[in-house]
Amino acid sequence: MMTKIIDRCLALDARATDVYNLLAEKGGDRNIRNFWLQIAKNNELHLVYWNQLRTWAETGYLDNIFEDSGKVLEDLDTLETRIDSLTSQAKQVVDLEKAFALAFKLEFYLLHPIFEQLLQYQQSLAEKSPETVGYDRHVNLLFEGLYEHDLVTMELELLGETLHRLWQENRKMAILSNTDELTGVLNRRGLFNAMRHLAHLTQRNRNTAGVLMIDIDHFKQINDTCGHQYGDQVLQYVAATIRDNIRASDVIGRYGGEEFLVFLSTVDPDALKDVAEKIRLAVASGDGVDQPVTISIGGASGRIGKHVDQSLQLLIQVADKNLYQAKAEGRNRIKV
Ligand code: GH3
Ligand code: MG
Ligand code: MG
Repeated sequence: MMTKIIDRCLALDARATDVYNLLAEKGGDRNIRNFWLQIAKNNELHLVYWNQLRTWAETGYLDNIFEDSGKVLEDLDTLETRIDSLTSQAKQVVDLEKAFALAFKLEFYLLHPIFEQLLQYQQSLAEKSPETVGYDRHVNLLFEGLYEHDLVTMELELLGETLHRLWQENRKMAILSNTDELTGVLNRRGLFNAMRHLAHLTQRNRNTAGVLMIDIDHFKQINDTCGHQYGDQVLQYVAATIRDNIRASDVIGRYGGEEFLVFLSTVDPDALKDVAEKIRLAVASGDGVDQPVTISIGGASGRIGKHVDQSLQLLIQVADKNLYQAKAEGRNRIKV
């Protein structure tokens, strides 16, 4: 299903390039022709993203990104009809002002949340993020083009600004759907997407992965005595402290209410212990929070087998059991 979705997106994006090439063919003097060609070329760069997403989709990394894939395909159908109609309009475009209006319309269609969500996902997980050539660049290019060619009418300016605003909103939404608003770390959904992705790489490289389950000690009591708002601050403090003590390549997510999970895609068991202890000490140091707070950590490490989800579940289970034991043995300790 996901490969089908990616293929459709890729095809639609390629159609956008066609539209810009059409506008270039129609487009008056050399300057204007080059302007459209530049945008067409810029659009082609999206292929890098789509191809990467396609490879991931084929291996199942992207499963569960959308809650309702059927609806996504329906939306893409609608988009296709609209872009089709723009393509025929582009063949008849006569003046530059109309061409700009058409280009803005096209970019508006491409600002669809499906695209944004997939591209955002690609950007956040690419091992080596290619130079950012997001849709914002397009909108900016078009906007600059308006001025350069002295075409700033009220309508076009408004269209351009609306587009830019929409792009920002979309982006915010795409980020929000994967992150926990309170702490800024990944939410459960974002966490599982990221873990699944990284676990595939771990499996391919035959490395050992590690999981740390981290739970705040007596958090209910903190809420009860200092208030819920203070409890929220403690959650933010703990999340930030964990993040400061892991590598950029490790992922942290909010697993549940006051539980965080750290996934390390490559780690040896001894090092996992060290990381856990470092996090525990950093939180207990209390730098950045009014009252002392402690955490307990359960850890597990192991190879990722052919069934990636199953291997992950197993690691989480073992880490959970160890966490339970760390609690039972008195809290503020690690068990790896
Ligand atoms: P233990 O040491 O055994 O972990 O005890 P605990 O009190 O930390 O564990 P328990 O699971 O009993 O309590 C967790 C509490 O976390 C209960 C719930 O109200 C609180 N909680 C969950 N989510 C939030 C949140 O977003 N903000 C705040 N302030 N509290 C939350
Ligand atoms: Mg708990
Ligand atoms: Mg707790």
